[in-house]
Amino acid sequence: MKVTAIRLSFKNFVNIGPPITRQITPTLPRSFITSTPKYSNKMTIQQPKTQSQKYNPLTEITAEIGGQANVDQLHKKSRDFRSDTLTLPTDAQLLYSLKATRGDSVYEEDPATIALEERVAKLTGKEAAMFAVSGTMTNQLAIRTHMKQPPHSIITDYRAHVHKMEAGGIAMFSQATTHQIFPENGLHLTAQDIEPHLQLGTNIHIAPTKLICLENTLSGMIFPQDEIVKIGKLSKKHDIQLHLDGARIWNVAADQIEKQNLNPENEDDRQTVLTELLEPFDTASLCLSKGLGAPIGSILVGPKEFIEKAKWFKKAFGGGIRQSGNIAASSDYALTYHFPRLSQTHQLAKKLEKGLRELGVGIGAPVDTNMVFFQPDKIGLSLDSVSERLASLPKPIIVGRERVVVHHQITPEAIEDFIKCVKEMKDELKSNGQLEENDINGEAQDKLDDWNKPKGETTDAVLRKQAAFGY
Ligand SMILES: *Cc1c(COP(=O)(O)O)cnc(C)c1O
Repeated sequence: MKVTAIRLSFKNFVNIGPPITRQITPTLPRSFITSTPKYSNKMTIQQPKTQSQKYNPLTEITAEIGGQANVDQLHKKSRDFRSDTLTLPTDAQLLYSLKATRGDSVYEEDPATIALEERVAKLTGKEAAMFAVSGTMTNQLAIRTHMKQPPHSIITDYRAHVHKMEAGGIAMFSQATTHQIFPENGLHLTAQDIEPHLQLGTNIHIAPTKLICLENTLSGMIFPQDEIVKIGKLSKKHDIQLHLDGARIWNVAADQIEKQNLNPENEDDRQTVLTELLEPFDTASLCLSKGLGAPIGSILVGPKEFIEKAKWFKKAFGGGIRQSGNIAASSDYALTYHFPRLSQTHQLAKKLEKGLRELGVGIGAPVDTNMVFFQPDKIGLSLDSVSERLASLPKPIIVGRERVVVHHQITPEAIEDFIKCVKEMKDELKSNGQLEENDINGEAQDKLDDWNKPKGETTDAVLRKQAAFGY
């Protein structure tokens, strides 16, 4: 039976419905549980909380349900700043997914997966959506579907994930060349940057431009929407497709919702904002396993015919998922209950930025959302020495090089401890006479100010350095 015509809300396919505090009897066979938690017959699921209620991420996995090993992991992850992919699925999230439908989604017979796809298509104002395992896959499938026949080329930012971080997939799967562009303003591409690079098929030496790919956020920075609209007009004028790598577009949406005084828990408000953000794009890929905290998954949205074609490529890539209902349900849960938490991750990132700036630490890129690029060398501390000290705290803090990412399971305590640790190191330098107070005056102060320039003035050199690290 084909169930593509079904249009029902997700609730119909999942029987355990948060938000509730209810008694449940777990039904997982013991052999599937590695840490053999002791189940009582009656357990209480913590009611999921969103932004309007204060939540404590550390209570969302319990020894009783998730097992002590996972509780310990959660405590570690609440101080792990390497990426927002590192979050742990919560008890309530997994129990929600336990009762999801279990149909074969390659046969298009899994209502939970279809419901998630319909929900995201509606949220983004696109005709159709396709669930897949990763953002790399949805980007590459989108590009493969856009690119009809070589010779052809794609315009991207020089730092673009699709260009740098997807294992050369564009060349491998789409036989295309990428023309990478360095933004003139050092922050984001503009229509003016792109226009002279368009190859309109008049010079046989150069593969014609068939696609422009933008990324929002990029290094945590929000791409100004008015510029995206201009690039959209330019691409339409030349009949060039426009794709968005929106792995973290949810963060942009959260920021917009806050700025427009809308409610992140209201589906209509989310729809309003996301539809506007995605309006200039033909297609977009949105990650579910980054900020939203789903265990697996990404979604491609676009015209119905396009998505139907992309499904063929997905099958050819070996990307068909059979009983995908439970992972779709985990994503659905994340959309409902974790999305409203994103603005708090932004606030915590800004708190960290402020604390570090006050110490004189350089900040390498504008902190618009949940990422802080910190430069401790500006106060005479090497990045290695800071990350080693953070990692050796009684409760270790983990950072990945200079990029610090705040996710929804990072606690305010971790932010405070981070700042405190850098302050201690700075004070030690001072008391050892290695850092004079006047070291951050005069010329040094000018240098520092240069590093700490506000949004719109971050130097290209800083961002090039960042790109060299491959974010
Ligand atoms: C993480 C990410 C992706 C997709 O990554 P997967 O790990 O394959 O899900 C794509 N684009 C950007 C900008 C990303 O940060």
